[in-house]
Amino acid sequence: MPDIMIIGTGPAGLQAAIHAARAKAATVMIGKLRNSAMYGTKVENYFGIKGEADGTGMLSAGLAQAMSSGAEHTDENVISMEYDGGSFKATTENGNTVTAKAVILAPGISRMKLNIPGEKELFGKGVSYCAACDCNFYKGKRIAVIGDESEAAASAELMTSYASKVFWVTKDAKASDMMIRKAKDAGAVMIDGKVSGITGKDRVTGLTFSDAPAIELDGVFIELGARSSSDLAMDIGIMPNTDGTIKVNERCETSVKGVYACGDVTGRPWQIAKAVGQGATAGINAAAYVKGEKNVR
Ligand SMILES: Cc1cc2nc3c(=O)[nH]c(=O)nc-3n(C[C@H](O)[C@H](O)[C@H](O)COP(=O)(O)OP(=O)(O)OC[C@H]3O[C@@H](n4cnc5c(N)ncnc54)[C@H](O)[C@@H]3O)c2cc1C
Repeated sequence: MPDIMIIGTGPAGLQAAIHAARAKAATVMIGKLRNSAMYGTKVENYFGIKGEADGTGMLSAGLAQAMSSGAEHTDENVISMEYDGGSFKATTENGNTVTAKAVILAPGISRMKLNIPGEKELFGKGVSYCAACDCNFYKGKRIAVIGDESEAAASAELMTSYASKVFWVTKDAKASDMMIRKAKDAGAVMIDGKVSGITGKDRVTGLTFSDAPAIELDGVFIELGARSSSDLAMDIGIMPNTDGTIKVNERCETSVKGVYACGDVTGRPWQIAKAVGQGATAGINAAAYVKGEKNVR
């Protein structure tokens, strides 16, 4: 039986595997690289990168690094989990089972979609779900941020420092008055419209509305928030927060002994640096736990 199973092979799960395996814990990673939020992205704001780094390449290198550290990998999704009081069992989509003494949950989040024409087709070609990640690619460009909540307000304000023109499209702004004022004072122009489509062939060229005139744009930031992929946590007795995130302490321990969580699933910031930091913490502490060591950080 492996010591530790890690659910998720994004930066959090891979870094957890590197640390757990190097601490000589028998480690199995379960998950598909291509489902990581980092897959297909260009990364600029992670430590040690010059210019843009290829997110897919970083994931592949991370998987190879984890495997050369001794961790095994199963390229499957887990569909259910069980805890019998002594060990944790995961069942995969193909009916395979993995049993381990400890679990690290690193399943990430799913960003909420608008589901309008052009959104899927132009993703990565002017459509983004993360202003903090992609702001630098829109210097001097015309962009729109779509969303009602505080993340949309914060993104609109942030983008005024990069883009030449920022529209904040919101039908029913629910951000605090202070955040709305800050976005407006920074220069964001609010549009009260119902978005009907994103236009463009190879790149975004604009946004259409069912109740307002179309606008010309170079980029669209969809900032509707996210749902965490934490359903499996409930199978083993962890009650997620109302937004689906999993609460952890400074050792990345959850409320259930032997279960750790790291990365986007524990909440904001949704950034690689935080995912990797928590991954290392979870890997080190889970390895110490299965070896019966105490007082680790
Ligand atoms: C378009 C875009 C651009 C971004 N750009 C940047 C950037 O420039 N800089 C930055 O710091 N951050 C960026 N981010 C955010 C960054 O990608 C995430 O913060 C990071 O990937 C989170 O890592 P994670 O390991 O927690 O989750 P993820 O990377 O999402 O990985 C989750 C993993 O869990 C697996 N999984 C989920 N459910 C199951 C299951 N049931 N069974 C098995 N496996 C499962 C998935 O397959 C995946 O392998 C960007 C995100 C997006 C969407």
